Amino acid sequence: MTGLSKKWTEITIATILFLTSFLIHDHQSSPVHAQTREKHAQNVILLIPDGFSSSQATNYRWFKGKETIFDAMLVGMQRTYSANSKVTDSAAAATAMATGTKTNNGLIGVDSEGKKLTTILEAANRCGKSTGLVSTSTITHATPAAFATHVGARAKESDIARQLIPKVDVLLGGGKQFFLPQSAGGKQPQRNLIKEAKNKDYQFIETRHQLQHTRGSKLLGLFSNSHLSPELHRPETKEPSLSEMTTRAIHTLSTNKKGFFLMIEGSQIDFAGHAHDSTWSMNEIAAFEKAAQKAIHFAKKDGHTLVVITGDHETGGMSVGGYNQYKANIELLRNITATGETMAKKLTPARDNAQQIIKAYAGIDITAEEAAKIQASPHLATTINDIISNYALIGWTTHVHTGQDVPLYAFGVGSYLFNGLHENTDLPKLMAQAMEIPFSQ
Ligand SMILES: [Zn+2]
Repeated sequence: MTGLSKKWTEITIATILFLTSFLIHDHQSSPVHAQTREKHAQNVILLIPDGFSSSQATNYRWFKGKETIFDAMLVGMQRTYSANSKVTDSAAAATAMATGTKTNNGLIGVDSEGKKLTTILEAANRCGKSTGLVSTSTITHATPAAFATHVGARAKESDIARQLIPKVDVLLGGGKQFFLPQSAGGKQPQRNLIKEAKNKDYQFIETRHQLQHTRGSKLLGLFSNSHLSPELHRPETKEPSLSEMTTRAIHTLSTNKKGFFLMIEGSQIDFAGHAHDSTWSMNEIAAFEKAAQKAIHFAKKDGHTLVVITGDHETGGMSVGGYNQYKANIELLRNITATGETMAKKLTPARDNAQQIIKAYAGIDITAEEAAKIQASPHLATTINDIISNYALIGWTTHVHTGQDVPLYAFGVGSYLFNGLHENTDLPKLMAQAMEIPFSQ
């Protein structure tokens, strides 16, 4: 190298280094960076779309016809397998996401030896934060249960109900039967947990109207005896939507100056997957997106909040397209006005009106062969759902869960912590890190 070209090389390197340091410096001093690195999250809102993975996300984007709120928030993926299976159930998945420990399918808030585990909700509570659980299933169902209770079998919903009060400040969902005594038609052997909750300063509410007009810092909202209605049929009931419950929960919990931890579950994306009901699935995701929007809106305004969104596992083995065709027809689902279950209930005892019913609620002219299939089916709703999914070119491979990785979305203070491929057990540890609260087993 000649002296002159060496000189030029040195000048070029110096210029690059100078510009690079300038760019790095500029990046570090940007407000977004300052927000994500320098502050801790006072509040964490964890939203779980039960049974939601990338196929559900893609189909929903086509269903909606534009970008979803989730798209810009994608930061990574998480691995969902449980301690005893490559395919988790909701109990083991929620226990992993709540406690940072993998456990066996069916177990709630305990490890595979039955040892009680501390949850992220309990850790937040110990630091003086308020806590809440919101769900469109029974509030005693596996996903909400694993954040605040410890039982050896997910089916013990009466035991779960007894552990929820007075531990969790805001409880909104279904499952009233698990809080009432047998003498009042409930499932509790003796106790009336609703009465006990009222004595412990909870406001008890049962309708959408009451939810909107309630005051007080502790809420027990049980809007159905069992699960809430599917979103498609919610307007026919007095039940609130997931986004209405989300708004009320955030409003109530955010009065605590020390912050809050809130878990919100879109439970019925999973139910729709089990039933192969593509329409139900898309409408539940739409309702869940509205709830997520409320959380993001609060986080933006508040500036001290972390929002994390992730499914616990995939349900149904849903595909985008299928049936040996290079196309998908998801837009067809937009005009369907009932779940398969509802359409099944409209059939005559002889089931000779399937063509009329499917035409009326789904706008599809099914063939005589398909009508005959419905007429002979031992699983009526599933058969209707499979036929409609076939028209939409959405495939299903199982009636239970699958073991694929699921997308991980994050927004707000500490969201950078969630970048990359994680174990589901990383989640509570990262949320604790974002909140700067102690969390260990
Ligand atoms: Zn499930």
